[in-house]
Amino acid sequence: MSPLAAIALGANLPSPAGTPEQTLAAAIDDLAAAGTILARSSLYRTEPVGIANQPPFVNAAVTLTTDLDAEVLLDFLLAVERRYGRDRASGAPNGPRTLDLDLLLLEDRVVNSPRLTLPHPALASRRFVLGPLCEIAPNLRHPILGKSMAELLAALPDEGPNRAAAVQKLPPLPTQH
Ligand code: AMP
Repeated sequence: MSPLAAIALGANLPSPAGTPEQTLAAAIDDLAAAGTILARSSLYRTEPVGIANQPPFVNAAVTLTTDLDAEVLLDFLLAVERRYGRDRASGAPNGPRTLDLDLLLLEDRVVNSPRLTLPHPALASRRFVLGPLCEIAPNLRHPILGKSMAELLAALPDEGPNRAAAVQKLPPLPTQH
């Protein structure tokens, strides 16, 4: 079987595809061009981390199998971000954005290049990432920490933006025909 990738999605500004919820739904469909989608989480409404004075985020996670190399997959994700109006040059770190795609895991690859860090360095510390990911892949293991995603989620403190109440599952979007 091809390597398994886990990807986190987030948005809190409207994009050419519409609301953050609509952007994430469209971007998840686009991810199918990189491989075979195994699972997609629900959408979650989450409190911003870092800069508090901005709209709430919508977050989700996807797993797919892919034959793309890690850096090629990263380039693919950055191109999808641009398709939905992401302007990296003008955005503050942790600030509002039309679409953010993070490569969380690619099988058990460990990468520390100028462009890419794998596993994603914030994977183990953010409920808005681990919550959606645990809905679809609780048994994935972190290749450095040696813990499952469910174990990492259970170890998070229930405080600040990592409070359980700060990450709320949204009802499914109506399907569009
Ligand atoms: P940000 O938008 O703040 O998430 O930063 C994205 C930048 O981080 C990209 O231009 C990547 O070169 C870099 N980066 C490093 N590791 C990763 C990763 N695992 N997933 C996504 N972007 C990464």
